[in-house]
Order: sequence, then C-alpha cells, then structure tokens
Amino acid sequence: MRFDLITIFPEFFAGPLSYGILRRARETGLVEVNVQDLRLFTKDRHRTVDDRPFGGGEGMVLKPEPLFEAVESLVGHGVGDASKPGAADPKTAIVLMSAAGKLFRQETARGYAQLERIIFICGRYEGVDERVAEHLATEEISIGDFVLSGGELPAMMVVDAVTRLLPGALGNEASSQNESFSAGPAFAARFPQAGAQHAASLRPEVSNARSRNELESTDAHRVLLDFPHYTRPAEYRGWGVPEVLIGGNHAEVANWRRAAALEKTLRNRPDLL
Ligand code: SAH
Repeated sequence: MRFDLITIFPEFFAGPLSYGILRRARETGLVEVNVQDLRLFTKDRHRTVDDRPFGGGEGMVLKPEPLFEAVESLVGHGVGDASKPGAADPKTAIVLMSAAGKLFRQETARGYAQLERIIFICGRYEGVDERVAEHLATEEISIGDFVLSGGELPAMMVVDAVTRLLPGALGNEASSQNESFSAGPAFAARFPQAGAQHAASLRPEVSNARSRNELESTDAHRVLLDFPHYTRPAEYRGWGVPEVLIGGNHAEVANWRRAAALEKTLRNRPDLL
C-alpha cells in the first residue's frame, strides 16, 4: 500500500509516522508513505498556494492549480479538464480531507485497505477550491463532526486506521477482527451465547431503552464496541476486576465479554444499535 500526503506542512508527519505499528509497517515495506510539499507545484516567486474567496468573505482558499499538478505528478498522467476528463484508476483513491465530507468509519477503512494507493489532499485555511472536490478527488472525507485547522491530522488518522488493517501489520490478526466496530457475525461467533438479557442485568436502566426482543433479533448483525479489558493487579485502590475474568472458565468469560460489550455500546453509543 502506498500513501501520498499532499500538504503545505510536510514536516508535520515526521512524529506520527515514527511510532508503533506505522513505523514497523514502513520498515517492513508493508506501506510506503510519501509526503509531498504542495509549494513545489507553484510557479510564482512567492510559491503561492492560496487566494481570496470569490464572492467575498473572510479567510483564504487553497488554489486548484498546485493541487491538480501535485496529484498529476504523483499518478504520472493528467486527470483531464472539462472537455476531456482523465480516467480514474480503480485501485487508487484520491481523498480530499474536508469537514464537509462523508464520514470516515471503520467500514471506510476496510474498503481503503483493499486499495493499492491512497493520495490525500490536506486542506488549510477556509478550505480548498471546490473544483478539487468536483473533478480531482475521488472522495471527500470527514473524520468527525467538528472542524480542525488542517487536513494533516485527519489524513494521518486515516493512514493509521487503514495500515493496521493490512495483513501483517498487527502481531495478532484477530486484534483487528474482534475490536470496536468489527462486524457483528465475527463478534457473535466469538461470543456465541451471551446476549441482551445479560446486558440488561448489568445495566437495567440503560437497556430498558430498547426492548430485549429488538436487541436479540438484530444480534447477529450488530456492530458493537469492544468489551472492557482489565489486567493486573486484580485489586487496585480497592477496585476489583470482574470475578468471572479470573475464574478461568472460558465460556463464562466469553459470555461476560459479549454482554459487557453490548452494555457498553448501549451506554456510550446507543446510535450503533
Ligand atoms: N471552512 C471549512 C473548514 C476548513 S478547516 C468548513 O467549514 O467546512 C481547514 C481544513 O482542515 C479543511 O480544508 C480540511 O482539509 C481540514 N479539516 C477540518 N476539519 C476536518 C474534519 N472534520 N475532517 C477532515 N478534514 C478536516
């Protein structure tokens, strides 16, 4: 997998790319990350990447020409113009980071992990000339319902989320199959017996919000948050860990985890259910 990051702050990525799973994935060649300085694609003396918005208003907007030329230099061919659009490569995504984009989800990350290459366009200031979204980017993606000052952090989050899904990136492949937002069936297979009833007994006031029937009928397809994890010491400042986890009964542990994941999802993200 190759990632290209087009930015006016190329040094920005040095830290995040140098730790943990991302660092290892780069070292082993699983991913290649190329940071592209947008200013190299300007032609004027001042290396101007932005300009005032048509129609007035505050702030500056990233100009289209350097962005189109940066992407074209990366893909090695033109992307066309209004009279003859260029052909898109199905294995390459050109992703514009934008607060006004479609929401990035785990499901989006899984789709991206099937690609060969992702080119990210990181916006700044008031954003990017809309023709980039209309004619250059293959998608416009937001990482959440809030506004940041630039697309670098959002792009980095997508790089991270996608990299850890690539086969070989994690020490243990099961980690990326059984975690928050993993598909219901995989999760259900891991925790076959527990269900809404157990969750209801853990937190009756929350699970009353939904009927047990409703929960049970959708159980197999539900996307849940991860179950809570505990480690040593078994008692810390007087707080213990759930007895079942130290009892050594794998079936009971599995039941408890399934129910606890459901309970936590009800409590923190009822919108997922
Ligand atoms: N005027 C824009 C915000 C611009 S913020 C608006 O109201 O929608 C500047 C840049 O930060 C954007 O071009 C985008 O690249 C990035 N950015 C900000 N918030 C983001 C988010 N939630 N997801 C992805 N990118 C974001």
